[in-house]
Amino acid sequence: MGRECTYCGADVEVHDPVYVSDEPGGEPTGSFCNYACLESHVEAEDLTAGAACEWSPE
Ligand SMILES: [Zn+2]
Repeated sequence: MGRECTYCGADVEVHDPVYVSDEPGGEPTGSFCNYACLESHVEAEDLTAGAACEWSPE
């Protein structure tokens, strides 16, 4: 059972998953196939303003 990409819904485990958390070391609040999906999601949701994202590429 893998996580689904927050952006496209694919199983992130088969790609190069990127997890996003609101706080360092916190529970992931978003998971993405790769940085392309992460960027697309951020742009689509207009999350760049005022957001200080921490993510771990593991
Ligand atoms: Zn994706």
